[in-house]
Parts: sequence; structure tokens; C-alpha cells
Amino acid sequence: MEEGKIMKKFLKAILVASMVFATAACSGGDKAATYTATEKGFAGDVTVEVTVKGNEITEIKATCDGETPGIGQTACEKIPAKIVETQSLDVDAMTGATITSEALFAAITAALAEGGLSADDLTAKDNAGETGAETLDYDVVVIGAGGAGMTAAIEAHDAGAKVLVLEKAAMTGGNTSRARGGMNAAETPEQAKEGIEDSIQLFIDDTMKGGKNINDEALVKTLAENSAEGIEWLHTIGADLTSVGLFGGASVKRIHRPVNAEGKTISVGSYLVPIFQSNLEERNVEILYETPATELIVDGGKVVGVKANGEKEYTINAKAVIIATGGFGANSDMVVSYQPSLEGFMSTNAATITGDGIKMAESIGAATVDMEQIQIHPTVEANTAGLITEGLRGDGAILVNQGGKRFVNELLTRDVVSAAEIAQEGSYSWLIVDQAMVDKSAVIQGYINKGYTTSGQTYEELAKALNMDEATFAETMNNWNTYCANKNDPDFQREGMENDLSTAPFYAIKVTAGVHHTMGGLKIDTETHVLNTNGAVIEGLYAAGEVTGGVHGANRLGGNAVADIVVFGRIAGQEAAAYAAK
Ligand code: ADP
Repeated sequence: MEEGKIMKKFLKAILVASMVFATAACSGGDKAATYTATEKGFAGDVTVEVTVKGNEITEIKATCDGETPGIGQTACEKIPAKIVETQSLDVDAMTGATITSEALFAAITAALAEGGLSADDLTAKDNAGETGAETLDYDVVVIGAGGAGMTAAIEAHDAGAKVLVLEKAAMTGGNTSRARGGMNAAETPEQAKEGIEDSIQLFIDDTMKGGKNINDEALVKTLAENSAEGIEWLHTIGADLTSVGLFGGASVKRIHRPVNAEGKTISVGSYLVPIFQSNLEERNVEILYETPATELIVDGGKVVGVKANGEKEYTINAKAVIIATGGFGANSDMVVSYQPSLEGFMSTNAATITGDGIKMAESIGAATVDMEQIQIHPTVEANTAGLITEGLRGDGAILVNQGGKRFVNELLTRDVVSAAEIAQEGSYSWLIVDQAMVDKSAVIQGYINKGYTTSGQTYEELAKALNMDEATFAETMNNWNTYCANKNDPDFQREGMENDLSTAPFYAIKVTAGVHHTMGGLKIDTETHVLNTNGAVIEGLYAAGEVTGGVHGANRLGGNAVADIVVFGRIAGQEAAAYAAK
């Protein structure tokens, strides 16, 4: 059963419970009255002001300031609007934002109860949308409104195409919303400003080495060559990635990150996704939400459209189709079918990332590559599967096991760090940061707000709270601080130790390995054409982002997913629009 459906059942139970204390079928009278209620959301409070007149909800104002932009905050806009529209609380929770959805339903129920109303007193409007079939005509249809899809849609529009975006979820963003780090790019003005010497060739070499040299080198070259221009393009659409940092697998500082007003680095995905979305809105590019594409339409060997299932059964005729449905990390059956060793692993992925685009294209003869290459991320918060950014390790965090000892060079690639972590007792570890790091990072502050951290004023106090041997942990930390002072890590040969961990209080996050990125996917060429199993172009079909394979080889470096969606999303948009104009 889908997460949303489970939530619906659960929420119905809440509503039934609420009716017990609401006065029976009481009308709010003819005058409008407003009732307020607050519930705890994912990272902060969710407050609703519900205005009722008679038995009708005329307005719901919801405030969810602490919730994640693009995820919980989207639920905060859409769920109240849907409730007012349908005059019913029998609305699906938003996939990916179930805790915020749950808080909204509970708060709205409580506010109604305050006014003497229960869900059953509302007269539900039968406007679940017009049903039936509809045929639409576009130049370019983009399947998936994650980073790659929205980038492609913006570029296709700007190249003159009439564009439609289909999105399976109720919001944009997919896994891109969860990207914490930034975008790798070489030879940028931002690097030059800080005197960082990088080159396109070094970017290619690092990416190939990280990918164990099974990457498609032509795609890697395209990625690196177009990366600096990608950063510049982002700037033109209102997104600035100005802080350059060090990330696992990169020889130099190459990851470009956004900063907030205080100059602290912030998560790249929740920064970029609303910017992509508002760029589409400004251009009047329509996004059909909760409308998964189900099938590609083929005529004479060319892709000429797509079928989708939303409020209606859509047949969309298009001159070109861009698949940007992301990977398959949330489809555990598909993951296990390619990598049986990953049975039972947590996933960092959004629930809609289930390999749809790969399956649709395969069914019309598309080739796939590297499907068994599935990346596990070593720092997934052990209780919630929330992703803890790799940037913390680049900025100075270390990993210790339950025995209080480091066990790996924390800056090695994700696969190596994950394997080392899985080998520790309990297959988890503790990510340690200090107050100096917190002061520089709004991201860590967010983790603290979400309750991910355990803290202590001294190393001993933190160790005690973690049930860890106090003396061993303190020795590990003191050694680490000395290594940083000497710029020499005799235990694991870590490099680039600019910050020690000596500023109290100290924080620990329990982390484990989780399915993170599926490197394999549709085989494309450097112009993002999808290739068939004979290596020929499938006319009219393009793909970009995590749905494709070959760019990352056997292991994706942190910062290369955003580079992938921007570089190849742009190419897909431009190429599809040019093809459609022929
Ligand atoms: P990428 O990083 O490649 O852009 P994301 O995971 O960010 O990938 O985004 C993929 C998007 O595609 C998500 O928003 C997801 O909900 C959407 N999606 C997945 N399957 C379908 C489908 N069948 N139809 C429409 N959208 C889909």
C-alpha cells in the first residue's frame, strides 16, 4: 500500500476520534468565525487558522515556517487549498511530506472541533476533478519535475518550444529537493576568486577515478566541460552557488554551494527547487501534478507522445519527450533485483523515485547501463533515514564507532566509507561536529532542530550520553585535534584538516548506510538522445538526470548529481526543442 493511502487510513482514525469530542452536527452559524490550532510538524510547529461559515470552510491559512522548503512547506500550501476546494478532510497526505500532512490534518480537525464542527458536518463537493479522457498537443513533454526535468523544461521553453511537465508527486523536486551538498564545477570564477587551481581534466580524472573508470568517458567530459557554464546559467535564473568547498573524491575545492544571508552554507536542493519552479511559473510552463506518465507513444519507431494518468486519462501528442523521472532508489524490489545484498536497507529517496522512466523506455527497446551500480550513502540518520550531508565531513566532522574510535579516512568515496561503517559493530557510527562547525552551517542547525543530535559540554559528557567509553572517545578527539594542528593524520591519512573539533559543546549524529543513488539507467549519448539496444538513437526521446546511466560509473561523487541535472538537463531541453522545431 502506498504511504499516502496508509496515512489516509490513519487520519480517518484521527477524525473519528475527534468526532467523539466535537458537538454533534453543530452549525457554526451564518457569521464567519475563525478557529486556530497548532500541531507539531516535521521540524517545527504547524499552525492553522480555519474560517468557517455555517457548515462550510471558507478559508484555511496555514503557517509552517519550520518545515522543509519545497517539501513540508508545499504540503502546507496544497493540503489546506484542497480541503477548502473539496470541503472534505478526506484528502490524501502528500507523499514525502507525511509528517507535515499529518500535523495539518490534526490541526485543522482540532480547529474545526473548536468551532463545534466535525469532518462529517462538511458538505463535500463532488469536484474531484473532471474525469474522462483528454488529448493535448505540445512540442516537448518533460516527464518528471525534479532538477533535471525542470532545468530541461526551462531551456526547452527558452529555445521556443511549447512545453508541458508531468509530475507524479503533488510537488516538484523529487530527490533533488533532498540534495544537501552543492554542484561540482571546474574552472569557475568562484574558484578563481579563492585562488583554487582546478581544471576540466582534473574534474574528469576525479570523476572517472571515483566511478572506478567504468563511466562513459564522453559523458564525463561533457559534464566537466559544461559545468562552469552551468553555474553561470544558474546565476541567470536567480540561483547563486558561491561558496566553494571540499567534498569526498575531489582533489581540490570544487563543490559550489548556496549561502544564506549570514553567509552560512545551506542545502542546495531546497534552495534550487523553488527557483526552478518559479522560473517555470514565470514562463507559464504548465506542470500537471499527480499525473504520472505511464507509457510512451511510438509511431514508426519515433516517440511521438506520452500517456499519463491524472485527473484525466491524458494522451499527449508531442514532437519530443524528455524522460527525467529520476532513479529507482525507492523501489526496493527493483534495487534488490539488481543488488540482492541491499535487501532491507533504508533509502534516502523520495517515495516516487521508482524507476518508471527506465521501465517505460525499456519497454520500447531502450538500452540500460550499469543497473547494478547502486550507491549507498554512509551518513543516513539512523532513525529517520534523513540524509546527512557529506559536506560536514569535508568541513571537519569525523566518524567514530560505538567503541569511541575512528575507523576510516572520512573523506574517501561513499562506497569505501560505507563499507568501513557496515563493518563496525551494529553497522552504524557517530558523526561528530563541534560548536564552531554549527556556527558556520545553517544545515547543522537544521539537524539540531530536527532532533538528530546528542550533545555534551565535554568529550566525556558526550560519550556518556552515547553510551560510549568516555576515556577512549576523549583520547580519539584529543588525538584528532593534534592531527589537525600538525596537518597529519597518522591513523588514516586524511588530508585538508583545516578545522579541529575543539569548540564545546560537541554534537553527535547516529548514522548508517542507506540506498542513495542509482548510478545505472538509460543509455544516452552526449546530446541526451536515448539509445536502443543496438546503440542507435530512438528518435524523439531524450533523457537527463538520475534516470540515465554512465555519467557516474560505479560510484557517484558528492556534488556530481547537481552537476548532472544542470548540465544534461540543459542539453536535453535545448536538443529536444531543436528537434521539435525541425
Ligand atoms: P533528477 O535528480 O534526475 O532530476 P529527481 O529525483 O530530482 O531526479 O526528480 C525526478 C522526478 O520525477 C520526481 O519529482 C518524481 O516524482 C518524478 N517522477 C517519477 N516517476 C514519474 C512518472 N512516471 N511520471 C511523472 N513524474 C515522475
